Amino acid sequence: MNKITNHLPTAELQALDAAHHMHPFTANDELAAKGVRIITRAEGVTLTDSEGKKYLDGMAGLWCVNIGYGRKELADVASRQMQELPYYNTFFQTSHVPVIALSAKLAELAPEHLNHVFYASSGSEANDTNIRMVRHYWASKGKPSKQVIISRHNAYHGSTLGGASLGGMAGMHAQGGLPIPNIAYIDQPHWYDEGGDSDPAEFGLERARQLEAKIAELGEDNVAAFIAEPIQGAGGIIIPPETYWPEIQRICDAHEILLIADEVICGFGRTGNWFGSETLGIRPDIMTIAKGLSSGYIPIGGSIVSDEIAAVIGAAGDFNHGYTYSGHPVAAAVALENLRILEEENIIEHVRDVAAPYLAEKWATLADHPLVGEANSIGLMAAIVLTPDKATRAKFKGDEGAVGLMCREFCFANGLVMRHVGDRMIIAPPLIITPSDIDILIARATTALDLTYEKLKADGLL
Ligand SMILES: *Cc1c(COP(=O)(O)O)cnc(C)c1O
Repeated sequence: MNKITNHLPTAELQALDAAHHMHPFTANDELAAKGVRIITRAEGVTLTDSEGKKYLDGMAGLWCVNIGYGRKELADVASRQMQELPYYNTFFQTSHVPVIALSAKLAELAPEHLNHVFYASSGSEANDTNIRMVRHYWASKGKPSKQVIISRHNAYHGSTLGGASLGGMAGMHAQGGLPIPNIAYIDQPHWYDEGGDSDPAEFGLERARQLEAKIAELGEDNVAAFIAEPIQGAGGIIIPPETYWPEIQRICDAHEILLIADEVICGFGRTGNWFGSETLGIRPDIMTIAKGLSSGYIPIGGSIVSDEIAAVIGAAGDFNHGYTYSGHPVAAAVALENLRILEEENIIEHVRDVAAPYLAEKWATLADHPLVGEANSIGLMAAIVLTPDKATRAKFKGDEGAVGLMCREFCFANGLVMRHVGDRMIIAPPLIITPSDIDILIARATTALDLTYEKLKADGLL
């Protein structure tokens, strides 16, 4: 097999990148000075960079490469579809075969009452759709005052104006004049950071009941929906106490508001079921999907919508919303092939019965490390918290995240992609990861933790 990559030397690529490429969520000047890491190939769970160094990708790209890298079937489907019908739109009373087939498949896989899909090219766009759709839904039902969408501090719902406004990331709101009007926030169910001495179960209930208090404060007649990730991802893989979601569901059922589950990370097998909503017992009215829908091989996202919402919107005349690439035929064909592989290769069963239990057992042992305050996982999402004092769950002195960043750099140096969110270290590997890959992941993570610990000690920071 021809493995020659035929690219410029790394230093030249870095110089060109620094000169012309603005990176997302990056201090670009700092990166330019340091030199970017350039990934050139990938296969299975393994990335290769421009210097030939290999990494176990503990993050499945950005939480998306669920079936792993290098699946030629997806490339073949894209190639065939590009030759047959590379593009046509779904506006103006037209459709095409790939989008019809994908929609029917998603309706089959999604919870029973969710049978209608509105497409976008990303999770952010899909959440923008959701904002307009839920408000339009209530207006169409004669309740135009129901406008406010309640979200949570430290949620992540994307980077568009709408997505970032739904999100609760303070650093994002601080740039560019966000949030847009009529978004409200409650606190996150983050017991480790915010639970103090409380019992986690009690804390979960208390955080859920903030939703009921917020609905009362705003007036039920003004609230359209509540949006949440089943498990917060970008916020740091925050697994809520078990009491949390049942209480949220009770509150949504007791009040006339819609529940949007942002399944962009949790969907398509991540938690050991097709959707995180199944794992956590959530009955959403809308699910946001993207990322694992195509395993990241091509951009596609969307909203899977309940029969009730689709009926109301459908009867209300034109929904004046859509993207040029809503239901793009190549993206739809690739997504459908991805779903075929997930299903026929029993990848979700592999997560549930093999990979997740194995990871849970091994990951839990990291809690014995002197730097680790907590280690937990659900499905193939796992987090550890770095702390100078386990007993008090203390934070490090100095900038939050500096130690996490140090640990992440040691991970890279040791051939592991593990992300840091502040001083939490998180993983969400491809779903095809095997127990022996997990052994490698744990060994490299342990090495990085040891090196971080030694450096902190040598620097007098412990
Ligand atoms: C990544 C993400 C999004 C945004 O998706 P993009 O495709 O990056 O626009 C939205 N919601 C959640 C939960 C995500 O993790």
